[in-house]
Amino acid sequence: MSDSPDCLFCKIASGEIPADVVHRDTQVTAFRDINPHAPVHVLRVPNQHIESISALRPQHDALMGSVLRAAAQVAAAEGIDQSGYRLLSNTGRQGGQVVMHLHVHLLGGRQMRWPPG
Ligand code: AMP
Ligand code: ZN
Repeated sequence: MSDSPDCLFCKIASGEIPADVVHRDTQVTAFRDINPHAPVHVLRVPNQHIESISALRPQHDALMGSVLRAAAQVAAAEGIDQSGYRLLSNTGRQGGQVVMHLHVHLLGGRQMRWPPG
């Protein structure tokens, strides 16, 4: 069952819509981006529906800690923890957020450029 009935990432987190899931636990789900921008491009989402970083409240602190820490675990499992990687969360319209369920991109396996577009 989805937290938010029309939300794509709620449906992926609950298993209702298939995705290339690399990690799932009671709090977070990690799956490969369908349109990868790097050799490793994994999205990490809280299983509960939170719209964006802007919607975070103090009760989400522990959950977001585990979203970030588990990103490091995925990076290690993907073999890019030594070479390095980038975590980012597009937030809102000008931030480039398209899917309105908080997600953290993990990008690696190539040299990242700065500044991003
Ligand atoms: P954002 O612009 O930060 O909201 O990024 C949304 C990301 O979700 C994009 O990189 C999309 O390629 C990715 N995406 C959209 N639909 C799916 C899907 N069904 N499975 C995996 N990734 C998806
Ligand atoms: Zn959602």
